[in-house]
Amino acid sequence: MKQLKKMKNYSHIFLLLFSLLSGCLGLEKSESKKLKRENLTFKLIKNRKKEAHTLMIPPPKLLSLSKNRYPWDHKYIHNHPRITKEYFRCKGNLLNPFLRIESTSHQVTYQIDCGGIHSHSLPIREGKEFIYPILINLLNFVQEKSKHRVIITSGHRCPIHNSYIDPSKKNRLSKHLMGAIVDFYVEKMEQNPLAIVAILKSYYDHTPFFLPFRETANKWKNKEITITLHESDQDRNKDNDHPYPYLSIEVNYHREIKRFVPFSWQKAYQNFYRNS
Ligand SMILES: [Zn+2]
Repeated sequence: MKQLKKMKNYSHIFLLLFSLLSGCLGLEKSESKKLKRENLTFKLIKNRKKEAHTLMIPPPKLLSLSKNRYPWDHKYIHNHPRITKEYFRCKGNLLNPFLRIESTSHQVTYQIDCGGIHSHSLPIREGKEFIYPILINLLNFVQEKSKHRVIITSGHRCPIHNSYIDPSKKNRLSKHLMGAIVDFYVEKMEQNPLAIVAILKSYYDHTPFFLPFRETANKWKNKEITITLHESDQDRNKDNDHPYPYLSIEVNYHREIKRFVPFSWQKAYQNFYRNS
């Protein structure tokens, strides 16, 4: 008898649980029906008003190939990396052999090279590393027009590297020390530097303020720059120790501040950071 009473008590609990579960299942069923109805409605609208629906998402516009397709595209000119001031860093290297210097009184001294990018910065102007912007612009222009890569053989030189590659007195006043000259040649056009001179001159076609170019033997000079052609059989410093003719561009006039660029001892010898 007792067992029958217990069974009756439990049957109430089972009934309660069963009704709760069936209630939940009923809710789930009604929710899924509701969702199905909504989806069905969406599909109907999509199918019946296909035109209106497609108009909601405008088709993507194709970009012109002449424009930059990616944000990093501007770092390249054709297949060549764009020239930046990084390419102008001093070419000094501590692994270079000691330079033997013999004075007129036959006194012999030895000079070591600088450590290049590990030893010092580029010239500093207003707290930042600085190379005259016209040099960077002109070399990128050459890459753009020639479609070939510009090879910078000598950009900025610190005083140690400058005297290591050419210890002559005249070279102590080189504007390479100030980041105002660059030596370079163009890959695959090594033997045709006059074509590069023509490209450089054409850069000024739309800026008559700096024209005309005055031409003397292997030199082309306007108000802003002087281009010099160094023939392959001419004496050259160690930075330009290659068999090709090469070009130099020297800045005469700083267009941003509208001033001529004379050699400055302070800017050449003191105006850069050195690693201790
Ligand atoms: Zn150096």
